[in-house]
Amino acid sequence: MKPQHLYINGEFVESQSNDIIDVINPATEEVISKVVDATEEETNNAVESAWRGQKEWEKVPQIERGQIVRKIGDEIAADKETFAKMLSEEQGKPLEEARGEIDTAVSFFHYMSEWNRKIGGDIMPSDDPNEQILIQKKPIGVVAGIIPWNYPVFIFARKVATSLITGCSVVIKPSEETPNTAIAFSKILDNVGLPKGVYNLVTGKGDTVGNRLSSHPKVALISMTGSVPAGTKVMEAAAQNITKVNLELGGKAPIIVSKHADLDLAVKNIKASRIENAGQACISAERVYVQEEVADAFTKKMVAAMEDTKVGYSLNDDNVEMGPLSSAHHLEKVESLVNNAKDNGARIEVGGERMNMDKGYFYAPTVITNVKHEDEIMTTEVFGPVLPITTYKTFAEAIEYANDSIYGLASALYTNNYNEMMQAARDLHYGETFVNRETGEAIQGYHAGMRQSGIGGTDGKHGLNDFLSTHVMYLAYKDNN
Ligand code: NAD
Repeated sequence: MKPQHLYINGEFVESQSNDIIDVINPATEEVISKVVDATEEETNNAVESAWRGQKEWEKVPQIERGQIVRKIGDEIAADKETFAKMLSEEQGKPLEEARGEIDTAVSFFHYMSEWNRKIGGDIMPSDDPNEQILIQKKPIGVVAGIIPWNYPVFIFARKVATSLITGCSVVIKPSEETPNTAIAFSKILDNVGLPKGVYNLVTGKGDTVGNRLSSHPKVALISMTGSVPAGTKVMEAAAQNITKVNLELGGKAPIIVSKHADLDLAVKNIKASRIENAGQACISAERVYVQEEVADAFTKKMVAAMEDTKVGYSLNDDNVEMGPLSSAHHLEKVESLVNNAKDNGARIEVGGERMNMDKGYFYAPTVITNVKHEDEIMTTEVFGPVLPITTYKTFAEAIEYANDSIYGLASALYTNNYNEMMQAARDLHYGETFVNRETGEAIQGYHAGMRQSGIGGTDGKHGLNDFLSTHVMYLAYKDNN
C-alpha cells in the first residue's frame, strides 16, 4: 500500500501517485519514511475541500475557533517528546533545540487562540449625516501554506494557527524533505472538532504540488516560506489569478560590532545565532562588520568560541550543540561557497570543511577573515555555520554596508553607545533589528522582510492582517419624522 499521508476533506486518503519521495535522516543518511508527490487531481481536491470548509468555518464564532486553536497547542504539548524526536530525526537539529521548537509552536497556537473576540473592524464617520460607514475584517478565504524544511514545526504553527483564528481554511504543503511532523500533527487536527475541509495536507514537491497550489484560482492567499528563487516562482504562478502572496524568504543578516560593544556578549550571542539549527535560519548571523579598533580581539574570541562547539548526532549524545545540515545538497552548497571564498583569497580561521564523521551531512563551525564587503561570501546567503568577518572605520560606513544587500530581513547591532543605537534605529533598512541580543523573534512582535526577503509578514497583531480582507459597507438611512 502507498503511504496514506494526504489529509483531504476530514479524511486520510491513499494517493494515486506513483512518485514516491524518500525522507532522509541527515545525521545517519537512512531513509526514515516515504511520502508521495500528490497528483494534480489530489491537490485540486484539497483546495476544493478547503473552499467548502471555509464557508462553514467563517460562521463559527471566534470564541469557538479560539478554543479549537488552543486545543491543538495542548495536544502537541501533551506529546512533546515524541514530536521533538521526530523533528530531530527528519531535520537534524539537536534534540534540545527540537524541544524548543515544539514549545514555540505550542506557544504560537496558544497566543493565536487568545485573539478570539478581538478581531474586529471600525466604524468611520461619514460625510453624510444619514450614513454609517462600517469597516469589517473578514477571513481572506483559502490559504495555501507552503513550509520549508528548516523550522517545519514552528512554521506549520505559524501558518495553521493564523489561518484558523482568522476564520480561513488552509491547505498545508510541508517541505518534501521534512514532512513527518506535519503528517503527525494532521492526526491531531483530525480530532479537535474542526468542520470537514477546514484543514488539509498534501505532500509533494515545490514545482508540482507547490506550483498547483500557487496557481489555483480558489486559493485566496499563498503563505510561503522558503528561498528567493522559489518565492519568485510562487509570485509568477500567483500572478495568473492576481492571488495575494505572503512571502517570507531568505536573508543575509548583517551584524555590526562597534568598539563600544561588550565583546564577550557579542561573541556569545553571535555564536549562538550562527550554530542554531546548524546556521540554517533566515535571521541567523550571516556576516559581521567589526570596528577596526576591536577587530583582532573580537575575531580571536569568535574563533575560540566557534572552535569550541560540540557537533554530532544528538539522539546518540545529549551534549551535542550542533547537528548536521539538513541534506546533502545543502551541504554541497555551503561547501562550494566556502571553497570559492578560499579561492578568492579568504583566510579560514577555523573550520572550512566537512567534518570527518562516519555518516551525515556535518560541516564544521567556520570563521572566515580577509574578505571584503562585496565578496560572494558576504553577499550570498550561506545557510550554514559559516561566519565571514570584515572591518569598518566609521559607524556610518557600517550602516551603509549593512543596508547594501538584496535582502532586508534581520540585522543586529552590538554597542553600548546611545547615539549609535539611535542612528541605527533611524538608518537601518531592515524588517528586524536585534540590539545587544541574539537573533530570534517574539510571537507578539512582527516578522517580515524588505527587498527580496519577502512581502507581508506574520506574528503579533500585524501578522493577522495578511489573512484578513477588509470589507467596507455604506449604510445610508432616512430620518423617521
Ligand atoms: P525552498 O524555497 O526550496 O522550499 C520552501 C518550500 O517551497 C518547500 O515546501 C518547497 O517544496 C516549496 N517550493 C519550492 N519551489 C516551489 C515552487 N516553484 N512553487 C511553490 N512552492 C515551491 O526553500 P528551502 O531551501 O526549503 O528553505 C530555505 C530558505 O527559506 C532559505 O533561503 C531561508 O532563508 C528561507 N527561510 C525564510 C524564513 C523567513 O521567515 N523569512 C524562514 C525559514 C526559511
